[in-house]
Amino acid sequence: MAWDPLSDEQRELRELVRTLARERIGPRAAEIDESHEFPWDVVELFREHGIFGLFFAEGDGGLGTGTLLSLVAIEEVSRVCATSGLILAVQELGSLGLKLAGSEELRAAWLPRLAAGEVLAAYALTESESGSDSAAMRTTARRDGDEYVLDGSKRFITNAGVAGLYTVFAKTDPGGGHHGISAFLVEADTPGFEVSRLEPKLGISGSTTGELVFSGARVPVANRLGEEGTGFRLAMRILDRSRPGVAAQALGIAQGATDYALDYARTRETMGRPIAAHQLIAGKLADMETKTEAARGLLYRFGRMVDEGAGDAELTKASAMAKLYCGDVAMEVTTEAVQILGGYGYIKEYPVERFMRDAKVTQIYEGTQEIQRLVIAREMLREQRTVLFAVV
Ligand SMILES: Cc1cc2nc3c(=O)[nH]c(=O)nc-3n(C[C@H](O)[C@H](O)[C@H](O)COP(=O)(O)OP(=O)(O)OC[C@H]3O[C@@H](n4cnc5c(N)ncnc54)[C@H](O)[C@@H]3O)c2cc1C
Repeated sequence: MAWDPLSDEQRELRELVRTLARERIGPRAAEIDESHEFPWDVVELFREHGIFGLFFAEGDGGLGTGTLLSLVAIEEVSRVCATSGLILAVQELGSLGLKLAGSEELRAAWLPRLAAGEVLAAYALTESESGSDSAAMRTTARRDGDEYVLDGSKRFITNAGVAGLYTVFAKTDPGGGHHGISAFLVEADTPGFEVSRLEPKLGISGSTTGELVFSGARVPVANRLGEEGTGFRLAMRILDRSRPGVAAQALGIAQGATDYALDYARTRETMGRPIAAHQLIAGKLADMETKTEAARGLLYRFGRMVDEGAGDAELTKASAMAKLYCGDVAMEVTTEAVQILGGYGYIKEYPVERFMRDAKVTQIYEGTQEIQRLVIAREMLREQRTVLFAVV
């Protein structure tokens, strides 16, 4: 039996998610991709089986089964459908602000509903002029008595139009740089807030990606997450914990593509033999498997670090490395899977072209691969290392 880092209880829950993915989500995946429609039936399936609860502590209405298992759940679903895997990853992304900085009242009001999947969440940081340079945002939140008044817009927001609750970052002190940003919970039906458009995309087509517009949207002061001016730090702490969700999505895509290509290579014959018996194809399969397993090692290590109580300072680099490597592996492996299927890889009847299109975004969102490299190098430069040979 293959080595498995999961406990018996974790394996049972993985088996539940795997079965749902194989039997219920997989058969819908091509249709979700083609229709470009948000799969509410998958949300319902997750609700019925308590899958959203994997992302929440017991005290907040969840299962309290920890970070490693939550990543495994995203991976398992993404093996068949990256759009559906993203629903889980974004429920975590959009809830993390509340978990890390929400008041007791806000947590009690929202976390159990998020854990049940009754409400979907979103995270709104990016704007048209500020993606990687998120501190350059222009959306403002002006204090007016017991409320803040939000004006501006956010771009490329996952779950736009389907989320009931948005974590929104805005400038409370426009001249204050990183320290002038604050975070707020904004309910979907807040007057002055609307989703102005949804973007057609290369992949993850069933997921909504949209523009949010705030025109004098009033949000109670009680909906602020943490102190005024701490929003940028919170946004980064959230990303440290959520990027591995993207890594898990990428890993699932890579595993799904590897499994499919392997099966195909076993049965497709050229020159009198299965293509898997040709060394050039066998070499590709071996590289795909090795890279996917190495990516899993980095991702699961992150999950175990969180479950064993690692602090913020330790998570930043581990999270960025998992996201960087899993995303790059997903892109490489899915491209090779298309190659292994030859002409069949390029047509929509086979799932590998969808895997390849879906993989690309994992190199872009929640911080591009270039930004992950900057983060990793910055953390390396901060570390005190024992150098075996002194630099002369
Ligand atoms: C499908 C989808 C869903 C998304 N969902 C969300 C969401 O839910 N919430 C949210 O807030 N955002 C979301 N985003 C936005 C995403 O996080 C940004 O697109 C991403 O961070 C990059 O920002 P940008 O598009 O403005 O690119 P830019 O920042 O303009 O970058 C352009 C290029 O320059 C590179 N670059 C930029 N700065 C540097 C630098 N200093 N050094 C080296 N290279 C650099 C980048 O890596 C990239 O290759 C989503 C995006 C997509 C496509």
